[in-house]
Amino acid sequence: MKVLACGVCRTDLHVVDGELPNPQVPIIPGHEIVGRVDAIGAGVIELHMGERVGIPWLGHTCGVCPYCVRHRENLCDHPLFTGYTRDGGFATACIVDARYAFPLGEIGDDVALAPPLCAGLIGWRSLAIAGEGQNLGLYGFGAAAHILTQVIRWQGRSVFAFSKIGDTVAQKFARSLGATWAGDSTEIPPQLLDAALIFAPVGNLVPLALKAVRKGGRVVCAGIHMSDIPSFPYRLLWEERQILSVANLTRRDGIEFLSLAPQIGIVSKTTSYPLKQANQALADLRAGRFEGAAVLLP
Ligand SMILES: [Zn+2]
Ligand SMILES: [Zn+2]
Repeated sequence: MKVLACGVCRTDLHVVDGELPNPQVPIIPGHEIVGRVDAIGAGVIELHMGERVGIPWLGHTCGVCPYCVRHRENLCDHPLFTGYTRDGGFATACIVDARYAFPLGEIGDDVALAPPLCAGLIGWRSLAIAGEGQNLGLYGFGAAAHILTQVIRWQGRSVFAFSKIGDTVAQKFARSLGATWAGDSTEIPPQLLDAALIFAPVGNLVPLALKAVRKGGRVVCAGIHMSDIPSFPYRLLWEERQILSVANLTRRDGIEFLSLAPQIGIVSKTTSYPLKQANQALADLRAGRFEGAAVLLP
């Protein structure tokens, strides 16, 4: 595939920082790839030359382990992940398994389509795990939350956005996207939440989010890595509150989300960098120097 654009995700930072176990080294990061088919291997019938496709985090699954056969390929025992255990999209071209490529059609801008390939797809899975509640809290208002806010609003539900303490820029950004309320992560929202989704890699947020959810509410950890969760009084978990994590995605998650995305009309706010400034993009993500998502252009 020729790479047209590749989003920069917090997971890329975790890979580069060596915070994830057993990476392939050396590795080319990047798992929000919009590209065009440039050559096709023997036996590939799913794609055609020149077709625009999206390549997500899930790069390969075994198809035969107990998780794969029970429609939970996100938990496959022998997976490959794009930009982590197989080379990704911080490149001018890449090789992918056609079965894990999503046709994107020709509507929409290459840059705008890149961030939803992770934030949207894994966000979609996180939303399903969060359940049917009306009031959803999003902790950490970056690339994933800004896309997910639009999805939640489109579903007619309410978003409560939690940022770093005093980050009024992020809070204003959240309100501009339709959040009902935005405040600091230490605040208790005006209404208790049915579920909280944590996107920031900060374990301290787990007990804070437990305080903000109602009885029976869920706290969903949506990131691949998090600092240690501090101990907390059992009463925060009592009354059937739940803590869950979301791992990876299935192809079904991707197909569902990408079929709805045009109806939702997701606008992704992006900051573009030339490929050779990939390290700058990662540094800016680490420092929170842009709103929305960074995208690399080869
Ligand atoms: Zn990602
Ligand atoms: Zn498997």
